[in-house]
Amino acid sequence: MSTVTPSTTKASQSPATSDSAPSVADVMERDPVFDELGFPTDPDNLYLQVVGQMLRAAEVIDLKHRVRIILAQPKNEVMVHFPVRMDDGHHKLFKGYRVQHNNALGPYKGGIRFHQDVHLDDVKALSLLMTMKTALVRVPFGGGKGGVKINPREVSPAELERVARRFTSAIAHMIGPDYDIPAPDVGTNAQIMAWMADTYMMGMDSNAQDGLRIVTGKPVEFGGSAGREKATGQGVADVLAEMLPGIGIPLQGMTVVLLGFGNVNSWAGRILQDMGARIVAVMDHTGALRNSDGLDCRALAEYSERHGGILGYEKEPTLSGSGTRSEQGAEVISEQEFYSTACDVFVPGALEQMIKPKQAALLNCRVLAEAANAPCTPAGDRVLTEKGIEVIPAILANSGGVTVSYFEWLQNKSSVTWDATHVDRELNRHMCVAARRTLAARQRYDCDLRTAAFAAALEQIGKVYKLRGIFP
Ligand code: GLU
Repeated sequence: MSTVTPSTTKASQSPATSDSAPSVADVMERDPVFDELGFPTDPDNLYLQVVGQMLRAAEVIDLKHRVRIILAQPKNEVMVHFPVRMDDGHHKLFKGYRVQHNNALGPYKGGIRFHQDVHLDDVKALSLLMTMKTALVRVPFGGGKGGVKINPREVSPAELERVARRFTSAIAHMIGPDYDIPAPDVGTNAQIMAWMADTYMMGMDSNAQDGLRIVTGKPVEFGGSAGREKATGQGVADVLAEMLPGIGIPLQGMTVVLLGFGNVNSWAGRILQDMGARIVAVMDHTGALRNSDGLDCRALAEYSERHGGILGYEKEPTLSGSGTRSEQGAEVISEQEFYSTACDVFVPGALEQMIKPKQAALLNCRVLAEAANAPCTPAGDRVLTEKGIEVIPAILANSGGVTVSYFEWLQNKSSVTWDATHVDRELNRHMCVAARRTLAARQRYDCDLRTAAFAAALEQIGKVYKLRGIFP
């Protein structure tokens, strides 16, 4: 089933991304592996873009051909269709995916996404990025990813639970606590992980201890880890704190713009604010807000939680220092104004492929930290490079989530509980070492940070393939 199916890009549905298509040459230099594996030519295809990035780094480190072709396709791709009874009594058929990209370094690991635009090629791309992420940050996992084509905002909590449980039972035979371990991603959360774990434990006749390890990102009361919910945002902040001084940006007083305000960026915003940064603009699916004195991300996160988005926050009354009630000082801005807002660090933490040439041309920042997976298209990336914007790639910047997932899995395996301070310290250590590993690779190979991060990950995978050999 290893075909590359052209996917409808989410980007083409976003109002922010209606550029003319980049040429093939912009996207990939058509590595010979593309032809060898019979890949089509589609510059908008996320999977082909990510494979192109991986192969570029493979070339830089002179990775063995056999490892290149293994990594250019996932090991297993499963697509399931399952019926779920809706609240009004009728049944609806859902489509779900689980892609297991590579397990040379450990069990397949990666999130499950609930989103109306999920396509097989997106899941394949994201599974490849998980393989790179776990190898870069050196947690003993491989890479996988899953998804269900559903808009979680359009179903009731009871329907959502039935979808999560039925999807889990559809893929139960191909996941396992030492084989493939899902986690939250866009549109899923700790509650959904609890339903998945419960379903697996009920159905697979596994003892409770083992069953708990089937997913990470669970609620703390049910086998979850302290610090997992904020982990990806915390990791973004840790990487920035490690790298920005070297780029000449002091954390104290630095200005930050956040694209997306879901789990990752609402936490990144709160943590960066606590470190002394000023969050000057935020955009989510409801709109964009700006405040040059800094938006209070804690209050904004509370508002967004209650209202399902940030728009309207600007009208919220607040207690000013003098005790009188005033408004937030936030102004509603257009998408164009949002992207053009001057800042030190721009943090895309929403979906893939949102930073195309048009958005990249508007950006007015020194550093772009990829909190989402693959937020920049290769053509967008090229504009960023031309403008001298330093890009901290996702496989480094957002690897905090899977790192704390590993801590959760370890705690479940050994029946111990780490406190939040211990989790934060260990996460910080992993993130700082991964950042230094990336910088060292950049120096070694004289390349951009994205290629360097892929190179550092591929070196590790290459070594293990050399030691293990290829069966038989
Ligand atoms: N979905 C997250 C990611 O893309 C976390 C994956 C995990 O914890 O396994 O990195």
